[in-house]
Amino acid sequence: MTDEIIRAAKILKQGGLVAFPTETVYGLGACGFDKNAVARIFEVKKRPHFDPLILHIDDTKWLEKIASHVPSKARELTETFWPGPLTIVLPKLPVVPDIVTAGLPSTAVRMPANDIALGLIKKACCPIAAPSANTFGRISPTRAVHVKEQLGKNIETIIDGGPCSVGIESTIVSFTTNTPMLLRPGGLEKEEIEKIIGPLIVPQKEKLSSLSPGRCEQHYSPVTPLLLCTSTEEISKEQKSGLLSFTPIDREKVPSNVVSTEILSSKGDLREAACNLFAAMRRLDSLGLDIIYALPIPSTGLGMAINDRLSRASAKRAAQKLNA
Ligand code: AMP
Ligand code: MG
Repeated sequence: MTDEIIRAAKILKQGGLVAFPTETVYGLGACGFDKNAVARIFEVKKRPHFDPLILHIDDTKWLEKIASHVPSKARELTETFWPGPLTIVLPKLPVVPDIVTAGLPSTAVRMPANDIALGLIKKACCPIAAPSANTFGRISPTRAVHVKEQLGKNIETIIDGGPCSVGIESTIVSFTTNTPMLLRPGGLEKEEIEKIIGPLIVPQKEKLSSLSPGRCEQHYSPVTPLLLCTSTEEISKEQKSGLLSFTPIDREKVPSNVVSTEILSSKGDLREAACNLFAAMRRLDSLGLDIIYALPIPSTGLGMAINDRLSRASAKRAAQKLNA
């Protein structure tokens, strides 16, 4: 274990905040049993208190301490996919403070597949409550430098573990109803989960915000308005534009007012695309563009999670800009 992890764990034990790498995105962590430290996460991120946090654990032994019941299907998933980009929601025990769960009777928990994260949790001797280490509603960080830019001044330390290998948030499955429910598509494909435990309920968009507070319509947003389009023909010729494309695109089809194009995967691989998504959005967002266009992405496998992020990134802002 490195000195940096030992020092960061000490900060957590003393009620401080530590940004750390996971395989999904960088997290902003506090000791999950320390109400005051968790309250600071909400302050620093400007995150509304109705939006619950995920507890990160290094050992399934923690489940008995924080959850009142672990259904057998949940166990099957943890045995198959942990450590990994899967979060499960279980009925909580009183030891989990209400501020972590936004007052819900359930808690979200996952075991990250990242040695720094696992080492930090082990050394801190408590589950780490951690949302993504960015200002609420903005693009999630997949590099330490992204965290430094937004939150660097307000937190005790950032552990740099290099780029995140998955690059998109965890898939969330709730076990608070008889049939498990997909609350958020993410870094583990829905199809992979269903191979193990059968069909998941996918709640309608309108019901999501009550089932999973924080799944806001607008989220993951660049400052620049982002618009989903079906082809390059929909690109307005008047605005300084950026383009986000899944695969390489014929230059001739791209109008000259598109000053930068980001290709998410040169070989059409959804995993690679998910991994590149947030960094590509940030690069486009740094160019002072009028608008960013995003071309369609297949909705199978990790495409479901990518499309979820893109549709939230595009919500409202693009409409506001176009109507302005
Ligand atoms: P983030 O930390 O930004 O990855 O977001 C975590 C998300 O997990 C929240 O926005 C909720 O949508 C979801 N979540 C966390 N805890 C619960 C819970 N107890 N019940 C339902 N959803 C939850
Ligand atoms: Mg987040």
